[in-house]
Amino acid sequence: MDYKTPAWVQWCPGCGNFGILAALQRAFAELDIEPSKLAVVSGIGCSGRSCYYIKGSNMHVLHGRAIPAATGIKLANPSLTVVALGGDGDMLGIGVEHFVSVGRRNIDITVIVHDNSVYGLTKGQAGPTLPAWVQTKALPGPNLHDNINPVLLAFASGYTFIARGYAYHVEQTKELIKQAIEHKGTSLVQILQPCPTYNNIMTKRWYEERIYYLHEEEPDWDPLVSTYDEYLEKMPRILLKLVEWGDKIPLGVFYRNIAKDTFEDRLSKIILNYREMPPGKRPVHVDGKPLVNPWDIFKEKVLEA
Ligand code: SF4
Ligand code: MG
Repeated sequence: MDYKTPAWVQWCPGCGNFGILAALQRAFAELDIEPSKLAVVSGIGCSGRSCYYIKGSNMHVLHGRAIPAATGIKLANPSLTVVALGGDGDMLGIGVEHFVSVGRRNIDITVIVHDNSVYGLTKGQAGPTLPAWVQTKALPGPNLHDNINPVLLAFASGYTFIARGYAYHVEQTKELIKQAIEHKGTSLVQILQPCPTYNNIMTKRWYEERIYYLHEEEPDWDPLVSTYDEYLEKMPRILLKLVEWGDKIPLGVFYRNIAKDTFEDRLSKIILNYREMPPGKRPVHVDGKPLVNPWDIFKEKVLEA
């Protein structure tokens, strides 16, 4: 299956988004997901355009709202593969409350952060992952804010799969995306994405002098956690890798917890036929007549309340 669409890809030459798009398209193809069973939901920003470049039942939504829209889609029809994607500004600035809250639910969706540390679409302001005192070319002075660490925030929020990739390593990033989609629960793949137009500090060269793969440098690296005791035993080493950033930047899978139930599992315990007949599959009309009349609800809840 070819996931490319005829849409003209509107990114600057050399943008890291090209590599991420190729990795996503290859991951969907290798997992053999039917486009009608795939929903890619994107927010606002350069990366937000990705939903037009991938065949699927996709949505381009408001700034910062890819995760709640993806949550609604998944809950309405849990048989779909749902991927929410956006930039660091979209996911960790205006959308950060959703980024945190989705981890509490462990709903089975994949969150992809195209992380270039700037707001590329609006001409290069400092993004939430730009470290303090760094001055990229569009800033009038150095950045005075500390940066958010997306993988550490995801860990604290309850995500059960956490990985980091690099946009120009398409094959390796594709593998991380496949693992994230196959994991049952909320997954994060942070993808380091050079923005050659506005981020003149964290460039391709800057990243490639620092990045390394966990499983290559530490052959006994094992991020899988399947019991609470295993969590306690592995957590200190995982935490050290989650916070490592500077001269060395780790890539790969940091953490995968298969001990926690998903939100869909929890719903199935209180709604007995939830998986067989989720809201998205329930009839909304009989013989052309709606089962629920929105006007009656409006009257009861608003006019007569
Ligand atoms: Fe890519 Fe940066 Fe251009 Fe946006 S501004 S398309 S992130 S290179
Ligand atoms: Mg950005």
